[in-house]
Amino acid sequence: THKVHIIGGGLAGSEAAWQLAQAGVPVRLSEMRGGGDTTAAHQGDALAEMVCSNSFRSDDASSNAVGLLHQEMRALGSLIMAQADTAKVPAGSALAVDRDLFAQGVTRAIEAHPLIELVRERIDRLPTEGLTIVATGPLTAAPLAEAIASATGRDQLAFFDAIAPIVHGETIDMEIAWKASRWDKGSPDGDGKDYINCPMNREQYEAFVAGLRDGPKTEFKQWEKDTPYFEGCMPIEVMADRGVDTLRHGPMKPVGLDNPRTGRWPHAVVQLRQDNALGTLWNMVGFQTKLKYEAQVALFRTIPGLENAQFARLGGLHRNTFIKSPELLDAELRLRGAPHIRFAGQITGCEGYVESAAVGLLAGLMSAAELAGRAMAPPPVETALGALLGHITGGAEAESYQPMNVNFGLFPPLDESVRKKDRKLGYTDRARAALAEWKRGLPVSGMMSA
Ligand code: FAD
Repeated sequence: THKVHIIGGGLAGSEAAWQLAQAGVPVRLSEMRGGGDTTAAHQGDALAEMVCSNSFRSDDASSNAVGLLHQEMRALGSLIMAQADTAKVPAGSALAVDRDLFAQGVTRAIEAHPLIELVRERIDRLPTEGLTIVATGPLTAAPLAEAIASATGRDQLAFFDAIAPIVHGETIDMEIAWKASRWDKGSPDGDGKDYINCPMNREQYEAFVAGLRDGPKTEFKQWEKDTPYFEGCMPIEVMADRGVDTLRHGPMKPVGLDNPRTGRWPHAVVQLRQDNALGTLWNMVGFQTKLKYEAQVALFRTIPGLENAQFARLGGLHRNTFIKSPELLDAELRLRGAPHIRFAGQITGCEGYVESAAVGLLAGLMSAAELAGRAMAPPPVETALGALLGHITGGAEAESYQPMNVNFGLFPPLDESVRKKDRKLGYTDRARAALAEWKRGLPVSGMMSA
């Protein structure tokens, strides 16, 4: 009989099952597709189906954070990476795959593993005992989503992501922007300067509002429209449509914000709030949007101070089930109130195929170590795996927690002396050294035998 029950056979659940089985642990993997259920996005019954693009993004491990994550996962015997490499199609420096070959490869490997029992069934409740990994993804079936909401508290489970853009702090022009809180009232433990403020005059503001109204938008899909809509996370262009001054009275309110260069309140202000403990990422609070990506970059770079901004994430609004992990999960992805349950994949609030599989990989390793009665140190924050885990379990602001791809902004900053052109290599070289050291200390043998 199984020792770990994994719910959901997507990118994360398949990887978690593989890691456990390779470590000698028998698992039950429950996947509802093929058992009479499906989701609004999946087309078939194969495990690890890629529901949209066929790309695992950049495979460049020296200058790209997701490429680095690929490399770390390969080093840990990832099934998802092995099958992606087998099903690879030409795509320059990106890793793109034939999605059918890829999903069939994962399915066959799981079905053939003697320690994995694949059951085509929908699970509607959280098990009350026994080690469990919940990996049911952004389109978790409704009854289980209900069960999760009642276990965690309704306000801890989101059904939409209302993504505000995030800017790399070092690309904000502080000759124009300045740090301050409204009326100089900051958080009690801070320096009274919690926000970065970008000032706009009337002309700039009105052009910006027109850009929001007229810019090209991504349409909601029918099933997104059918999902009950949300309060309090309205796209910014919808607000702009209500009147030219609506934003000046809402998220772009200038009152109480003296521009140190003029001594006066600007006509309007864009406020960015610190988004991670390291202070490297800044969130354009309230700027969730359905504007197309290129239009967002062009429009947001008209904001004074953001002319050369680099974005760690652009804005969006999608159907997406995820929990407030920084509050709910401990450092080993366990639900604080019910530590026999781990979460993995996109439902933890990571974003993307690779990131989902990576968190599945970690949940598998952590469960195997726990069963063996051995402590497993989390991957160091200098690695892509550790940076991603840190974002999920503690680095991010719990209140504004939103899904995020892996990026160098989640890594501890490099020493100031590293030159700009050497920084990416600085991150990846440091990560490789840290991963090698951590891997040597992994407690469960057979973990990396793939
Ligand atoms: P999934 O891969 O979705 O796996 C979850 C599995 O759980 C599914 O097989 C589902 O059938 C099963 N399941 C759900 N509920 C139950 C239940 N109660 N009992 C049993 N089984 C259950 N990421 C990218 O990198 N690139 C993209 O282009 C991209 N496009 C996306 C498009 C859409 C429409 C969505 C929703 C997401 C997209 N993502 C994309 C984000 C995300 O990376 C993928 O959704 C990824 O598959 C998440 O992996 P996962 O394992 O967490 O979830």
